[in-house]
Amino acid sequence: MTEIFESVKALGEGFAATFKHLLRKPITEEYPEYKRPLPERSRARIVLTCDPDGKERCVACYLCSSVCPVSCISMQSAENTDGRRYAKWFRINLGRCIYCGLCEEACPTSAIQLTPDFENSRLDILNLVFEKQDLLVDNCGKDRAYNFYKHAGIKTDSFDKGTRDFETEPVNVKSNLP
Ligand code: SF4
Ligand code: SF4
Repeated sequence: MTEIFESVKALGEGFAATFKHLLRKPITEEYPEYKRPLPERSRARIVLTCDPDGKERCVACYLCSSVCPVSCISMQSAENTDGRRYAKWFRINLGRCIYCGLCEEACPTSAIQLTPDFENSRLDILNLVFEKQDLLVDNCGKDRAYNFYKHAGIKTDSFDKGTRDFETEPVNVKSNLP
């Protein structure tokens, strides 16, 4: 008896939901004229950001390319005369990217970030291969304060890490051992 009552109740609730939507005014978003604002953490077009000093954040550490499940990131590392590492070239095949966000999670410098810009379709799939100049933006993206080299320091011929005014002393990793 209880089962019959519960089935009838569920049926009634289902019909009630259907009738409620039947009588409601439809909501139509006229895309592309109207683009619904997406949350800041939506995962779409990938960019390479700069630190607050306006310098490229990417230090070409290869972590993003290692963690990428579809192997669509590649790059070549190089080093400036001031000791900063950078990517000589940096390439993402967005035709393979599944927008999982793992590259962003792995990045130690907040350089690589996914943005809510989802309008990235191309008629020719080869145009989905983005080079560094297509990925670089002149702002910090979501992380507006982080500056990797202010924490890590830069080693050059004249200075050791953590010896300049703007740097803190590097952590002695052996002191963290049990
Ligand atoms: S979002 Fe995922 S699939 Fe796309 S480049 Fe990053 S790690 Fe690779
Ligand atoms: S984007 Fe980030 S994780 Fe990828 S190479 Fe540059 S610094 Fe490393």
